[in-house]
Amino acid sequence: MKVISLDGSAGGGQMLRTALSLSVVTGQPFRMNHLRGARRKPGLMRQHLACVRAACAISGGTADGAEIGSTELVFRAGKVRSGTYEFAVGTAGSTGLVLQTVLPALWQAGGASEVKIFGGTHNPMAPPFEFLERVYLPALAKMGARAQLELKESGFAPVGGGCILAKVEPWESRMSFDVQEPGELVASSIRVPFRELPVSIAGRMMDAAVQVFPCEDAQVKALPAGPGMGVACLVEAEFQHTREMTCTFGAQGVSAERLGRRAGKAMRDWMGTGSAVGRHLADQLLLPMALAGGGSFTTMSPDSHVETNLSVIHAFLGTQHVWEDLGSGRLRLTLHP
Ligand code: ATP
Repeated sequence: MKVISLDGSAGGGQMLRTALSLSVVTGQPFRMNHLRGARRKPGLMRQHLACVRAACAISGGTADGAEIGSTELVFRAGKVRSGTYEFAVGTAGSTGLVLQTVLPALWQAGGASEVKIFGGTHNPMAPPFEFLERVYLPALAKMGARAQLELKESGFAPVGGGCILAKVEPWESRMSFDVQEPGELVASSIRVPFRELPVSIAGRMMDAAVQVFPCEDAQVKALPAGPGMGVACLVEAEFQHTREMTCTFGAQGVSAERLGRRAGKAMRDWMGTGSAVGRHLADQLLLPMALAGGGSFTTMSPDSHVETNLSVIHAFLGTQHVWEDLGSGRLRLTLHP
């Protein structure tokens, strides 16, 4: 079978993860060069290697160039098998991103699967556990793709030590995704889970988020002792037709107030556009949408993940897409399979 040639120079790990997922789903091998070429330190890092290994494990595939720092990878998938799998990132790298790599293929496997992943569950620059559970999976359920998630242990960067468990059901009926309007606001909440830090830090974060995004259901949540300290500010809004969660994570040298305000403002900015899909969800929906039969959604101005992801999906599936500018920071993306 022809090896698809991909250039990773315009993006980061997501281009690789999407290529791995689609290679396993379609059986088409690929070669990607200039891996993570747009990142300050290009090449494979441990969290990307974990995704490569996971893709090999579920498909009996092989990978050449699967080493730390490698800037070129050739991947050949075998046949995807449902089953029970355990993967460990080996650092605080995101468990959610490993899960997103294997989900599309496991949905297409013959039976149900259970996947346990060890690593980070609350990392900057990756979807936290709660986003996957409350925003990503409900959006995918609209396409008929189902999985249940359990947080076994929270793992904050930089220590990690977290664990998630996913129960994945086979995809029975695929439905195209069509969400144009958020609809009425049904509920909103702010949660600040924290571990081994003074409760006052979590409280200051929460108060700052509430100031920017007024919300009656705001709580701090002390996590039981575990691996490493950490704190996250999770701001959630549930509408009739969609959900969004914006978040920030404790970082040295950045005040709790600033992090709380940032999470609240991100939610306010998205809601101000009146669009149905948040910036991060937008790039994460594209791959399942392409497999489910395409569709259309409104979103806010996208970041580079959307275009780079679309280019990889196009290379495997020949999808086409159209952007329409609806004004006031709202855009519509239509994906044709
Ligand atoms: P790198 O950028 O270093 O290559 P990476 O493997 O994390 O690392 P990216 O290509 O940046 O790769 O992809 C990160 C993914 O995490 C994207 O899908 C992005 O939408 C998602 N993401 C980042 N921050 C959040 C967040 N706060 N909430 C939900 N999703 C997020």
